[in-house]
Amino acid sequence: MHLLWETLSPRVHRCRLSFLDVTVGLVHGDHRTLLIDCGTTLSEAAQIAEDVVELTGGAVTDLVMTHHHFDHILGSAGFGTAVLYSPAAVARALTSRIGDVRAHAVQYGTDPVHLDAAIAGVRVPDHVVTVADLDLGGRSVHLELPGPGHTDHDLVVVVPPTGAGERTVVFCGDLVEESADPAITAESDLAAWPQALDRLLELGGEDARYVPGHGAVVDAKFVRGQRDWLAARSMA
Ligand SMILES: [Zn+2]
Repeated sequence: MHLLWETLSPRVHRCRLSFLDVTVGLVHGDHRTLLIDCGTTLSEAAQIAEDVVELTGGAVTDLVMTHHHFDHILGSAGFGTAVLYSPAAVARALTSRIGDVRAHAVQYGTDPVHLDAAIAGVRVPDHVVTVADLDLGGRSVHLELPGPGHTDHDLVVVVPPTGAGERTVVFCGDLVEESADPAITAESDLAAWPQALDRLLELGGEDARYVPGHGAVVDAKFVRGQRDWLAARSMA
């Protein structure tokens, strides 16, 4: 095993990549294996792909990309046979706006050789998603855009429990961060972000495990605290 995977619920896992502490989520069912975000480079993707085979006995069949930042999407080049799902903005980022994505990645210290190898292999997502439910076989996931926040297209993945005693798991993308304050940039919608977190809390409920785009798994109380922090920032 290359990476350290946490088990959040039966057949629901996540790891934190060492470069930028990006979350990669994994949900597997009887027939399909879904990855949530995929890192930046082909070497990260290869490690993830090998670990997934070890964890699940099969390859990644489906990949959801939460938003258009390079650290969540460029590794998709390493999952050539997977069905790709993303918001429309990610499809643009991987095609007509790939130059902007590359510049952003260089700014954050990505090795240009690794970067260009990944960019050479990226492809257009197969499905542009606003809301969808995917059946993985004995496990389903719900995809939804809860509203603008970190970007104008943050897609979240909700994994409901399949049995008594299990907890809902919510992969939050960068709508929630634990290892640093939420990343507010020129493209963020600070005024709308708290409502997006209200919707996220509605989707997951009080007992869910919320998985940030960067950082440790948190609970509903933490997400509410981050919502209040963002609301206070937007009033300031
Ligand atoms: Zn981001």
